Amino acid sequence: MEHPENDEAYKGLAVNKGVGPVTTINPYLQRKRFARRKMSAADYVEGILKGDTSILGQAVTLVESTHPDHHAMAQEVIEKCLPYSGNSVRIGISGVPGAGKSTSIDEFGIHVLKEHGGKLAVLAIDPSSERSKGSILGDKTRMEKLSVHPDSFIRPSPSAGSLGGVARKTRETIVLCEAAGYDKIFVETVGVGQSETACHSMVDFFLLIQLAGTGDELQGIKRGIMEMADGIVINKCDGNNVEKCQMAATSFRNALHFFPKPESGWLPKVLTYSGFYGLGIKEIWDMVYEYFAFVKDNGYFAYRRNEQAKYWMYETINEQLRQSFYENPTIVERMTAEERGVLDGKKTSFVAAKELLDTYFALLH
Ligand code: GDP
Repeated sequence: MEHPENDEAYKGLAVNKGVGPVTTINPYLQRKRFARRKMSAADYVEGILKGDTSILGQAVTLVESTHPDHHAMAQEVIEKCLPYSGNSVRIGISGVPGAGKSTSIDEFGIHVLKEHGGKLAVLAIDPSSERSKGSILGDKTRMEKLSVHPDSFIRPSPSAGSLGGVARKTRETIVLCEAAGYDKIFVETVGVGQSETACHSMVDFFLLIQLAGTGDELQGIKRGIMEMADGIVINKCDGNNVEKCQMAATSFRNALHFFPKPESGWLPKVLTYSGFYGLGIKEIWDMVYEYFAFVKDNGYFAYRRNEQAKYWMYETINEQLRQSFYENPTIVERMTAEERGVLDGKKTSFVAAKELLDTYFALLH
């Protein structure tokens, strides 16, 4: 049967004519753009030290920029912020997509801010951010409670040419956040090894979120990642999944027995929780803070930070040397011909590499 509303006589749903597009916008705006005064490095630093989140956000954008002018300014800002940084706890949080990272970070963040006060910054290292030109990690919409919390600052993963580049920028952003008074830093990451290593190299505690029944605990697939973890937490321990999670926890504990004793002297713990239902969150953070007390007491906390500083010095050298080589116009010009030579079997890879390197070094003289 025809719906009564389709009847002409039915007047319940009057459709009014809409308003057409306006012909002019505010002429004042058209004539005069908002001229924002160009900020100096000192302006950025002043804003950051005051804890101004808008200026902090702009400074992070500066750090992430690939423009050479921005690069110099960013380095100046970072250097000036350095004396005010370091006074924080940095926690890396990793897990496969779907492990429940964002749900958990939302809960973790609210818990930590409530129990320990201070301010929290959530940053991210996403190895796929270059390919996708965007990152799902550290996305505000994924963390509903934290994103509206006045003491939190959430920043998605930077996108840069390489994972090393992404990680370095995240590390520099940590400095800025700390100078702005963020004394708790979460670094979220995902991946199958490399990004976890990068994350591990800038945090004090590395938390690995696992799921039950993926077989990782039995096959030791991600052994390298497990070895980096200071704590392993099994998520989604709720409903009829509880027993499976507890069994997985036992398997992980058993697997950890076969790993060499960590340098920190801390034996990683395995806990179960439910990020969605907020169960077992307190136990996780009691563990993390117990770890901090333990490693601050035995000196490992400071030792690890020093080692990381050294690691990043070498990483930066490596990255800049590589960049300087690959972006050199003469090298760029010759690269294709050398590559062709190798592909056509006219030259060995080593000879071609040596020729390019010799060309590069000769240019430096
Ligand atoms: P991410 O990709 O690691 O950030 O994972 P999400 O936080 O987006 O979570 C992936 C899916 O798992 C979502 O549908 C969540 O609702 C669900 N999830 C997250 N935590 C839990 C939990 O503790 N229990 C249950 N049952 N589901 C959860």
